[in-house]
Amino acid sequence: MLDNLTQRLGKVVKTLRGQARLSEDNITDMLREVRMALLEADVALPVVKDFIAGVKEKAVGQEVIGSLTPGQALVGVVHRELTELMGGQSVGLNFATQPPAIMLMAGLQGAGKTTTTAKLGKWLKERQKKKVLTVSCDVYRPAAIEQLKTVAAQAGIDFFPSTGEQKPSAIAAAALDYAKKHYYDVLFVDTAGRLAIDAVMMAEIRELHAQLKPIETLFVVDAMLGQDAVNTAKAFADALPLTGVILTKLDGDSRGGAALSVRHVTGKPLKFAGVGEKLNGLEEFHPERMASRILG
Ligand code: GDP
Repeated sequence: MLDNLTQRLGKVVKTLRGQARLSEDNITDMLREVRMALLEADVALPVVKDFIAGVKEKAVGQEVIGSLTPGQALVGVVHRELTELMGGQSVGLNFATQPPAIMLMAGLQGAGKTTTTAKLGKWLKERQKKKVLTVSCDVYRPAAIEQLKTVAAQAGIDFFPSTGEQKPSAIAAAALDYAKKHYYDVLFVDTAGRLAIDAVMMAEIRELHAQLKPIETLFVVDAMLGQDAVNTAKAFADALPLTGVILTKLDGDSRGGAALSVRHVTGKPLKFAGVGEKLNGLEEFHPERMASRILG
């Protein structure tokens, strides 16, 4: 995939072939192409600006070694920086707590929280032999509770019932009590999302967080949101001490610029990626692969 960008850079620096160093002069035009590539991938503009400034600093003065063209050398620097910025290595879920390990799922309605809860539960059950319980605190949409019940059954994990008449805090307390008494390793708490950022939703999830003190507070965000992911991510990161991000719908046609934007805004690791509607459509997040995809 990076060949494309290398070719594009090659076109703007044809005359510079054979230069021994990346200089301020020869990288300016190339960085314009990198900037275009990032914007085409729908990375938010302020994030692109910061990133390009950082790369420029790193790249100027670097020697172009051996048979590399300046374009190849710069793509190498950009790719490394992008990978680093997205966390370098893949990062798993944290279980360093007294069981049950509570995972609080946060995000807007439609982001993929409920689907991802079932996917992750299935993953943990099948790959790590964890005993998993799920509960929905979405008292506004009974359909959401039903949906979790359905997908949990499909995933082969347990579901703790709740109703629209209960308070989210009471549901969470009852589920936690049940999870402790029945020796669950993991309790997923699915929460109510709204179509847009909403003060009531944020206050409610903050209260749930204070009550449950989850080991993981996972922000679930739709990759197709592109640049708009920035505002959503900022609102959730300001309201909650997030511990990780899950980027969904990467099977869509987005180049995944949201990954970089969300990482930049939250400073938290992207832990998993949703890559399909089916319950096995989940992958660990790989910064290096994502960098290639974003650069296109
Ligand atoms: P919630 O409102 O945040 O709980 O979102 P849902 O879990 O109900 O998901 C909203 C829609 O997105 C559903 O139709 C899901 O099937 C779909 N969805 C969730 N994750 C993915 C994914 O990784 N890929 C695709 N293609 N669809 C997804």
